[in-house]
Amino acid sequence: MPGMSEASTVSAHAQGLGWMLALPKLGTALLIVAVIALLWLLHRNDLQEQRATLISDVLWLEQNLRFHLSGSESQLQQLAQDLGQDDQQRIFRLRGQHLLNNAAELTRLSLVDERLRVIDTLPAKAPVTLRPEYRDLYEQARALGRPSYARPSLGKEGAKQSVLIPIYGRRNFNGFMLAELDLQVLLRNQVPWWFAEKYQVRLIDDSGTEYAAKSKVAGTPSLNYLLPLDPPGYGLGLEVTAYGSRDNTAQRILAVAIVCLSLGVFWSLWAIRRLIRRRMEVEAALREEHAFRQAMEDSLTAGMRARDLEGAIIYVNPAFCRMTGFTAEELIGHKPPMPYWDPDEIEETMALNRAVLSGNAPSDGFEINFRRKDGSPFRALIYEAPLIDGSGQHVGWMGSVLDVTEKRRAEELARQQQEKLQFTARLVTMGEMASTLAHELNQPLAAIASYAAGCANRLASDRWQPEEIRAALDKLGRQAQRAGEIIRRVQSFVRKSEPKLQPCRLESVIEDSLVLVEADARTRGISIDFQPETALPPIMADQVMIEQVLLNLLRNAMDALADTPAPERRITLQVRNLPQEVEVRVRDQGAGLAPEAAQRLFEAFFTTKPDGMGIGLSICRSIIEFHRGRLWYEPNRHPPGSRGTTFIFTLPKEAHDDPPRPPGG
Ligand code: ADP
Repeated sequence: MPGMSEASTVSAHAQGLGWMLALPKLGTALLIVAVIALLWLLHRNDLQEQRATLISDVLWLEQNLRFHLSGSESQLQQLAQDLGQDDQQRIFRLRGQHLLNNAAELTRLSLVDERLRVIDTLPAKAPVTLRPEYRDLYEQARALGRPSYARPSLGKEGAKQSVLIPIYGRRNFNGFMLAELDLQVLLRNQVPWWFAEKYQVRLIDDSGTEYAAKSKVAGTPSLNYLLPLDPPGYGLGLEVTAYGSRDNTAQRILAVAIVCLSLGVFWSLWAIRRLIRRRMEVEAALREEHAFRQAMEDSLTAGMRARDLEGAIIYVNPAFCRMTGFTAEELIGHKPPMPYWDPDEIEETMALNRAVLSGNAPSDGFEINFRRKDGSPFRALIYEAPLIDGSGQHVGWMGSVLDVTEKRRAEELARQQQEKLQFTARLVTMGEMASTLAHELNQPLAAIASYAAGCANRLASDRWQPEEIRAALDKLGRQAQRAGEIIRRVQSFVRKSEPKLQPCRLESVIEDSLVLVEADARTRGISIDFQPETALPPIMADQVMIEQVLLNLLRNAMDALADTPAPERRITLQVRNLPQEVEVRVRDQGAGLAPEAAQRLFEAFFTTKPDGMGIGLSICRSIIEFHRGRLWYEPNRHPPGSRGTTFIFTLPKEAHDDPPRPPGG
């Protein structure tokens, strides 16, 4: 089944699309993870590198400090050695001052004898008091024979560290030299500026007390390294702290931007995915809608045809193709004259086509003869409407075409049958009136015979006057005319003819009808009272048809009077000139309508009479409607206590341009 295979292709397509939609999602998630991992690795490498740099820098600084201190130490030792000679004080003053000048961190030098008395101090004005702890230190230095460092101290003059250097004379130990170092100055001089720009350098003891520090950086500490500076420092440690001073804002911004962009890409993919989903749903709905419309279009029985503003066909539906026998390919793009136009009516069709294209097509449709491809004719009923596109632009014309051939044929058949029935009804009426008409004819014929006999007698007697004979012959002629008139009326009434509307005077139609019923009415003892209207305009009507209506109504009225007492057997015929129409009223004083008759009066073959046919009123109504008039009845109510019924019909006064369809048609 093509439908099923199409459906499975569509679902396979949707599945494939689902996978394709899932892949970027997965890819983007992985990309984000990879980016974050990369950033983390970079950060870790950075930290490691920073630590390695820090360690090497700290080692370098420690080396530098150690080198410097041991340099100073050996200079002090050299001096101490020289002080062991004669002229100790002079040498101390000279060389000691020189040392103080050269080593900035060296703030004081004191010469102390073996009894712990300060012999001399440089600079001279600074008196020195020896701390008790120096005694132990002195013993230690003396025992080891090398410089000993005192515990650093924090005082008003800053952080100081003292070194005791033993002095040996020619024979024995004879005192020591006390050197005081300013730790702050040491750091200031020995830590280079570039180092201080990167790190904070501190000298601390094992309890964490800070003795000296140097730094030019600020911020939050990131890495920190502690290295013991012992010896030569007594329990001192060198602490170097790296600050996150390295400007990695750009790197951070970049990382954040990458993450944000990745999230943005992810989000946009998500949005596109939703969009595609929506699209797919809309497409499915559209396909369904299209299939539904196609099905509707294919099952339409009315032909549809769209044309552009020049009249070229742009669309035809299957029903139109079936109707004309041409395929859509043969018709699309075709310009007038169309292949399905009737070759015998090309001119008329072209004119109609022009009217349609100029927007003057009849709004209630028009009929036209077409030819199928096989040459067979058909009658088409066409409704044309402007074709408006989605933007409200008039782009052409849309026509719906109905094949009304069969309908028109059936209507024609019905019309012919109705006409035959009407004619039959006339013959029946005439048949019913035949005996009274024969009786009616009898009178003039008898008169003619008696006038003829009288004339013959006069001529035979030789006593005749030409005047007498002429008068008798005149009368005879009039009687013959009267008889001839009756026969002419009968003849014209029963003649089979096509309905023909022509101007006629209603009074003369009524009078002609009265001629035909007069004899019957006289026999039944009924008086017919005709009240003609003056200045009645001529009306467009088929005289015989109106006569047939009048005759029917009059005869029904006469039938209704059968049981009415003789003096009241009266029929009133009244004509009224109304603004739009003329009205004819036939009023009887009969028994009135039986209740069951009132409902079905105008039905064909409904009758309450034993010998009635029941087609009279139905034919009357179709005749009156053919003349665009109305036929109805009213029970008589005025004056109060009246009996009987009034049948009323109207006929329009104005002539119509378009001829009405024949009754039943
Ligand atoms: P028919 O005269 O052959 O019966 P019609 O169609 O002329 O057929 O009338 C149908 C019926 O309508 C009549 O049988 C009768 O019962 C009723 N009818 C018609 N005209 C009158 C009237 N003027 N008064 C009472 N009944 C009437």
